[in-house]
Amino acid sequence: MPNERVRKLRTAIGELGAEAMLVTNGVNRRYLTGFTGSAGVVLVTASDAVLLTDFRYRDQAPAQAAGFTVVEHGPNVYDDVAGLLRKWGVSSLLFEERDVNYATYAVLKEKFGSTELKVSGGAVEKIRMIKDESELAIMQEAADLADRTFSHILPFIKPGVSEADIALELEFFMRSHGATSTSFETIVASGERSALPHGVASDRIIGRDEFVKLDYGAYYKGYCSDITRTVVVGRPSAKHREIYDIVLEAQLHTLENLRPGLTGREGDALTRDVITRYGYGEYFGHGTGHGLGMEIHEAPRLSRTEDTILTPGMTVTVEPGIYLPGFGGVRIEDDVVMTDDGIKILTRSPKELIVLD
Ligand code: ZN
Ligand code: ZN
Repeated sequence: MPNERVRKLRTAIGELGAEAMLVTNGVNRRYLTGFTGSAGVVLVTASDAVLLTDFRYRDQAPAQAAGFTVVEHGPNVYDDVAGLLRKWGVSSLLFEERDVNYATYAVLKEKFGSTELKVSGGAVEKIRMIKDESELAIMQEAADLADRTFSHILPFIKPGVSEADIALELEFFMRSHGATSTSFETIVASGERSALPHGVASDRIIGRDEFVKLDYGAYYKGYCSDITRTVVVGRPSAKHREIYDIVLEAQLHTLENLRPGLTGREGDALTRDVITRYGYGEYFGHGTGHGLGMEIHEAPRLSRTEDTILTPGMTVTVEPGIYLPGFGGVRIEDDVVMTDDGIKILTRSPKELIVLD
């Protein structure tokens, strides 16, 4: 009984003029099969769906990969794939050119004989862009966990505590409430370091009258959340308030106006135009957002070069920022899902400037 994801992949295989697809990417393997093991490949044709994995997963793979024929492969999985291709008479096979390195490609060429290899152009990633209801339910839970973590961490943020201590407490909370891990390396950037867009938590001790920027996420049931909030410890200066208010205005303006039918480029312009109007365009050097799901960065992006049209079911972040070297920076980030007529916001932590004393 093929699942809906396999059915979509079969359509894509046909549209790409091939007879089968070999899936080597581990995230795509899990997406298609539900199998959470760390090794194996998937082979899909118009009538067959096979998961080839090794003896370590003899029990787990058949239990998880409903609808798939599970094959325990020999010393080299590609010998087993070649055998199936010969048996089925497959003449053209899509492979994942973004995943297969040159050495593996040489092995495929050698072992697959007369079967023609064709690039898949990210066929599974394209299907993954549109989340189904079960995925959105998990992503909401992952976002809820990020929100609970934000309220939990606020009392820990004070002068004299290191960024690393904050990161540790935050990660411990997420792990103890169901996260498998963080969805990326936790950013806690205080004072001047808050001007670093990717200021991973350091040993710096948080001082007074400065920004603390937190950017973190839970990796939960195979899906990522991603949130950024910036707070002030001590008394905010006029400059702190000025750039905070501009970033907040840009972020809220975008949440109000983002809708399906816009391109990723138009989505990016929603934040960028506001920040540029206030004269800070050159201090916002990254894109407005990125797709997220099973991976922390996936298609589509909200950026100046993204032509993808935003479509219901896509999940993206909205994360404008202003970074002033030597002073500090602000970013505010939420996760949203495109709906039929607008967006639903998944992360709900407060956004008015929080001043901690
Ligand atoms: Zn983030
Ligand atoms: Zn992000």
